[in-house]
Amino acid sequence: MFDLNYDLIKREIESEVCKEHHLHPEFVKTDDGFGIKACCQPFHAELVAKSEKMIEEETKSFLDKMMKDMFNE
Ligand SMILES: [Zn+2]
Repeated sequence: MFDLNYDLIKREIESEVCKEHHLHPEFVKTDDGFGIKACCQPFHAELVAKSEKMIEEETKSFLDKMMKDMFNE
């Protein structure tokens, strides 16, 4: 495995505000990944989807970079 840029994801997630309660979520790193604390279930689900998409993109750009590095040797 490789280290994802969790700081970037954390910043993005924590900048979100719940439309219903006007509260910011909290992004917490755990031993097996990360968790998101939000004020309500719908907002939490939205944030999980967003973070998964970001991680997918991070993973893709990491792999792209790795491939480029491999071919440039
Ligand atoms: Zn809420």
